[in-house]
Amino acid sequence: MPAEEKDEEALRSLDFIRQIVADDVAAGKHGGRVQTRFPPEPNGYLHIGHAKSICLNFGIAREFGGLCNLRFDDTNPVVEEEEYVKAIQEDIRWLGFDWDDRLFYASDYFETLHGYAVDLIRQGKAYVDSQSPEEIRETRGSLTRPGTPSPFRDRTVEENLDLFARMREGKMEEGSCVLRAKIDMASPNMNLRDPVLYRIKKATHHRTGDTWCIYPTYDFAHGYSDSIEGITHSLCTLEFENHRPLYDWLLQQLPIHQPRQIEFARLNLTHTVMSKRKLLELVKDGHVSGWDDPRLPTLRGMRRRGYPPEALRRFCEIIGVTKFDGVTDIALLEHVIREQLNEETPRRLAVLDPLKVILTNYPEGEHEELECINNPQNPDAGTRKVPFSRELYIERSDFLEAPPKKFFRLAPGREVRLRYAYFITCQNVVKDSSGNVVALECTYDPATRGGDAPDGRKVKGTIHWVDATASVEAEVRLFEHLFAAEKPEEVPDGGDWKDNLNPASLVVRHGCRLEPSLADLAAGERVQFERLGYFTPDPVDSRPDRLVFLRTVALKDKWARMQKKGGRG
Ligand code: ATP
Ligand code: MG
Repeated sequence: MPAEEKDEEALRSLDFIRQIVADDVAAGKHGGRVQTRFPPEPNGYLHIGHAKSICLNFGIAREFGGLCNLRFDDTNPVVEEEEYVKAIQEDIRWLGFDWDDRLFYASDYFETLHGYAVDLIRQGKAYVDSQSPEEIRETRGSLTRPGTPSPFRDRTVEENLDLFARMREGKMEEGSCVLRAKIDMASPNMNLRDPVLYRIKKATHHRTGDTWCIYPTYDFAHGYSDSIEGITHSLCTLEFENHRPLYDWLLQQLPIHQPRQIEFARLNLTHTVMSKRKLLELVKDGHVSGWDDPRLPTLRGMRRRGYPPEALRRFCEIIGVTKFDGVTDIALLEHVIREQLNEETPRRLAVLDPLKVILTNYPEGEHEELECINNPQNPDAGTRKVPFSRELYIERSDFLEAPPKKFFRLAPGREVRLRYAYFITCQNVVKDSSGNVVALECTYDPATRGGDAPDGRKVKGTIHWVDATASVEAEVRLFEHLFAAEKPEEVPDGGDWKDNLNPASLVVRHGCRLEPSLADLAAGERVQFERLGYFTPDPVDSRPDRLVFLRTVALKDKWARMQKKGGRG
């Protein structure tokens, strides 16, 4: 077994959920069958946190020869939209997973779920409570004080059946009554204090229309939906740990398939907010350009930005699953993206802040093509020809008129290497009337073609360039973290998490110059601009007559530096 696979085996063996599943399979539980589900609520777009859950659920199914369902948890008609249903499916497929024909909706089970509720009423385990929502809230008690039983708690089965039927028929007003489980108003677990199972909502549902005016709560619908689908392991995030006794109680009241709920810690990332409510606010208030803004942690944003789905899967594998609620350094995610791109992307030349260079001893009207290596990491990637002539552009920051000690790039009288081209020497600095540097007059040494001097003379700096006339113009967008603060949600009293937005998170550079081959790069392709980072054409705004490139990730690797120093985040 190759070393890398062994590592991955080891990573997996540490994962407590896979251990439970393996034990269940070995014990022949559910006939050795494994079935999981990914249950998004269609009220927003998927983000990298969801990717963790997707990789876990689909990954476990794949590894244990089982199945994973996609189930829309669409029990709340008020906030859900068809737009999200489509987008979520696209995003899961893009991430590399497939549910085959197992696409389900909790709303498909409304009739069955209603039947289960009626069963509970018949058994005397659920009742219609006619208290107002405020009264129900007030009589729930607190962590230190038990709840008070509702005056309607002891209604007869007949009365409850009748009232529940009238709720369903739309004869009751919204808020006038609810169906509650009859469990224990004194339970130390608040979730067991006669939780609400059904409420009246006279709203149109995106799939069932106006068929229903009563809707099950999440707790009621979730476990039973798991049961209906034959789910064996229902994996959810830690905030549901306290709901597990209710999950189990509801299932145990009925002679139906009994899945098991297991909780794991959700993914949190530094410099990021992950709550759908907050992401929606950023989109609605125009702090970002949309759900696919490349700075968002949404899968749409990451796809647009050029993050490869393989790298996101790899990231989820590396972070693993635990019960520890921590915050992952976003530098790790960027590191994984960079590692993947380093291996697979071709190198190209581009100048983001052009400064003209005129080679005074290069014959006017002539040009040539120089051979450039496509990927030093991968010899099979071969070479390409890049045009070169008398007028070039270099990066403005690669020249300093009065260079400090450790600056080895271009300066008056100094010789440097143009990558894959020639040695050049700066002879004269051309300035405008206000003293700004507008061009450099340089000489080149024809004997150094390809980038080496036959006399063995060395230069300390190598800089990138493009041909002034053959290069193409582009807009380039650079990104920093959307939030300057490491934990954007931690704000002082009276502060707003949006105060932590980073005003410099988007930098737009106009008039950048790219080597000509970049004009034909297809959407979804990624390249490295030498010395500048990894880039992709913007699938949304780039057009043949107006190129727009996005920086997927810069070359600077904060994570790798941290590893070297020995401080693993
Ligand atoms: P909401 O607050 O709207 O419920 P949610 O983030 O829980 O938001 P869901 O659509 O219910 O959104 O999530 C679908 C699945 O993804 C759930 O099983 C949920 O536990 C999981 N999930 C959501 N966020 C994360 C996260 N940050 N890390 C890991 N799993 C997550
Ligand atoms: Mg949720």
